[in-house]
Amino acid sequence: MNNKGKTTIRSLNESDITEVKKVEKESFFEVSDMIDSPDYEYGIFVGNSLVGFCTIGGADVIDDIEAVAAYPGFNGDSLLLSDVFVLPEHRAKGYGSSLVREAIKMKWASEKKNELVFIEPWDDEVKRFYDKLGFSSITDDIMVLKPSALKSIKPKTETVSAPEYIQDLINVNLKKDLYDNEEICSYCHGTGLIIRDNEYGLSDAPNKSYTNLFPYKHQSLSFCPHCNNGVVRRCKFCGQIMSRTAFVHDCEQQDKIRQAEREQKLKDLMDNAQVAPKEVEDSCECFYSEYYSWNEGYFTDWDEFFDDWHENHNEEDDKPEYVWTTERVDMHIDADDIIANATENLYEDAMDDISEEKCKELQNMLDKWCDTCGVRETYVKSNKYKVKIPWEM
Ligand SMILES: [Zn+2]
Ligand SMILES: [Zn+2]
Repeated sequence: MNNKGKTTIRSLNESDITEVKKVEKESFFEVSDMIDSPDYEYGIFVGNSLVGFCTIGGADVIDDIEAVAAYPGFNGDSLLLSDVFVLPEHRAKGYGSSLVREAIKMKWASEKKNELVFIEPWDDEVKRFYDKLGFSSITDDIMVLKPSALKSIKPKTETVSAPEYIQDLINVNLKKDLYDNEEICSYCHGTGLIIRDNEYGLSDAPNKSYTNLFPYKHQSLSFCPHCNNGVVRRCKFCGQIMSRTAFVHDCEQQDKIRQAEREQKLKDLMDNAQVAPKEVEDSCECFYSEYYSWNEGYFTDWDEFFDDWHENHNEEDDKPEYVWTTERVDMHIDADDIIANATENLYEDAMDDISEEKCKELQNMLDKWCDTCGVRETYVKSNKYKVKIPWEM
């Protein structure tokens, strides 16, 4: 993995000894003897190189222990932060404050409680550094951090401007082959790209408010959400630009066309159907027509159909010529399904041990039960036969 330039903060251990010695040489601290104590030394790495470290141990080693012990909240688990060091060439990048802040949080997590953290700063500049992190002075030489006072570090803003790279990237005239209803997206000028803000917040940001939850940005170039590759399509019926994912436009004109298409399809189906032979018509107990407004289009009696037609139409309306026959469907329970289900958890091939006769016996019982259980037969439209409507009746 290429983690060049990536910063990592973690507790140090014996395997870091070479890196620690390298950095230690540049500082006036001696920490390498102590890195085998768990959760004691912390380091910040850029890539695989250590660039800074700090120590967090017990506060009982502070010289002016009386001043510390008098501080409200002090106890045997209070902490001391010391040996804070960042290599000179890596300063002014926020590494020191990130290291201190994250190391304190890790220490608190490993101790499973957030105790006071003391520090002995040696000059005013150092004091200002800790002040920014939330520490406050209790004597001239001692500062303390109350757990609730740890301040978050705001990200620093960098501006990315790469005209040469972008020029190389898009130094072309983009070719667009357009159909009649297609045109260049006016939003992204046909580039297909927009600048996206990618806003984010910090989970521990101070003064979080509902109106300012995501104050930071990782702006980047992204795909234009208004078009497909810089091209939009207009509806050929109403002329409006369609959403980029729409296949057909959701407008009144388009709706009318779809309705007409549906009607034409039904008409074609009827035109191509056979006229029912006499015996089929005579045995048909129920007809179907999309012009019958009750019972989902099913009716049994021509008078019902005529009454409904006259109620909803005028004399001059075009009368349909045919209706559909229907097929009768009865309730059916399949014996094989029940047997398969009943033997599923038995020994393998248990189903095969049931004779065909026994299956038939069950099917007969089920058929009899269906006939007498009180559920009436159902008729469904058959697209096979049509029957001429006896308008002259
Ligand atoms: Zn666009
Ligand atoms: Zn339209």
